[in-house]
Amino acid sequence: MPPILQVTGLAKSFGEIRAVDGISFAIRAGEIHGLLGPNGAGKTTTISMLCGLLRPDAGTVVVAGEDFWLQPAKCKKVLGVVPQEIALYEELTGRENLEFWGRLAGLERGAARIRAGELLGALQLSDRGGDPVKQYSGGMKRRINLGAALMHRPRLLLLDEPTVGIDPQARASVLEFIRGLGAEGTAILYTTHYLEEAESFCHRIGIIDHGRLLAEGTLAELQGRLGGDRLFILEGAFAEVDPAVWPGFLEQFRVIQRTDRQWVVSPLTPRDPSDCLRELLALPIRVENVTLKKPSLNDVFLQLTGRGLRE
Ligand code: ATP
Repeated sequence: MPPILQVTGLAKSFGEIRAVDGISFAIRAGEIHGLLGPNGAGKTTTISMLCGLLRPDAGTVVVAGEDFWLQPAKCKKVLGVVPQEIALYEELTGRENLEFWGRLAGLERGAARIRAGELLGALQLSDRGGDPVKQYSGGMKRRINLGAALMHRPRLLLLDEPTVGIDPQARASVLEFIRGLGAEGTAILYTTHYLEEAESFCHRIGIIDHGRLLAEGTLAELQGRLGGDRLFILEGAFAEVDPAVWPGFLEQFRVIQRTDRQWVVSPLTPRDPSDCLRELLALPIRVENVTLKKPSLNDVFLQLTGRGLRE
């Protein structure tokens, strides 16, 4: 099955800032593809180039087999975009907002009315559809914002941090709804800086930092980059310790995070955890405690960038 979105070598600079620096990825029908990165990583700039708001300096965007920048009108029919900033008319009702965006996307009046009703139901807003948006909570506005992008039943949905600033319950309901769209076959690009969302929700994840895609794959594939499914957390007095002087250590292990009291150590290649543990305990340091854990996306991010990605 060919991808619905194929991005190749996409790049954009603003003056000296290389906001997006040559990124490539593909998304297929039914796939929720996360783009995970800290503030300023280049996520919004990427989305803007995928939907026609910004012209790339280099690279191609192919949507359902068509080059976006050669056939923008054709591609926009396939595409729905949910911007980070809520783009609604506060004085209009939720239903009127949906109908307005549906008409803009080319629906006839009657079709827009029917579709708005369907989406209000699916988004659990039927009872509030007649109220002006200015009376809505943040989570309700987010849901209408999402509905506005879905009026024309796009096969590809671009979501730019759709759960920022909403409470956990509203977040869960938005995620559930988006998961349902994926299950129905919509291809979804989902940018986020929330690790748990990327871990629990996305089929594939691209890790982006300083405009570059540092790694891409399923959660299991990304965890596999850390040499297997275990990390070792050593506790002790490590202030003066330099692992570079231990013969062979850095060929076997990497210290992905260190403080004076704690190291997080990853084997460089998949190995039996008990062998690793034996070698770590034989090191010339006094280890007070060892725990094992499964690598999280934060650990993957740490290994790739030397920094953590915390909310
Ligand atoms: P956030 O999570 O904060 O939205 P992001 O990953 O979406 O971050 P972008 O908004 O794409 O990041 O920004 C990437 C880089 O490009 C940043 O350094 C930002 O300051 C810069 N940038 C973005 N838009 C512009 C612009 N119009 N003019 C100048 N610099 C810009």
